[in-house]
Amino acid sequence: MISTLLLAAILTPAPIVQAPPPPIPKNPTLIEFSCPDHDRDDQHELKILQVTGTNRVTITTILLGDPPLDTDGMVRTTINVQPIAFGQYVATVNSIAGTEKSDPSDESNQFERVPGRPSKLGIK
Ligand SMILES: [Zn+2]
Repeated sequence: MISTLLLAAILTPAPIVQAPPPPIPKNPTLIEFSCPDHDRDDQHELKILQVTGTNRVTITTILLGDPPLDTDGMVRTTINVQPIAFGQYVATVNSIAGTEKSDPSDESNQFERVPGRPSKLGIK
């Protein structure tokens, strides 16, 4: 006869060891996305949204132009987050073809604008 304790041990799944979440990027400089009609669009619009709890407020819109597809089918381009205030943000992207604009993408992972890291200290 199996004791209740042993049965509980059999039925209770082993604790799952969860990998720590990836660190939040600070002052990102590169963005990437896939774009299904990239050969037909001619402009991309990046919106940066400030995150406060569940609230999102668009604080700036940046035109990205029409960067070429990378060899793996992703579109990559650099961004400069220095003009935005310190805080937590996400971003979305739209593609634009002439006067037609796509719906916005899903939100990016969250990123953080923090004071920049100084160079190596020089002592003279
Ligand atoms: Zn595109």
